[in-house]
Amino acid sequence: MTLALVEVIKNIKSVVYKMLKNMQVYKDTKRNDACPCQSGKIFKKCCMNEYREAKKKCW
Ligand SMILES: [Zn+2]
Repeated sequence: MTLALVEVIKNIKSVVYKMLKNMQVYKDTKRNDACPCQSGKIFKKCCMNEYREAKKKCW
């Protein structure tokens, strides 16, 4: 395996891991809670729709 390929796999792993972690965080967030992205907005007015779309596509 070449070094470049190892780097690519490392990157993919960290991106997927981050995504799954975010999914878990959003899943545990209630509609009227502060959004986990730290925008200071309420979840339903911030990333909730995005999260729902992403969920539809992924699972
Ligand atoms: Zn947000």
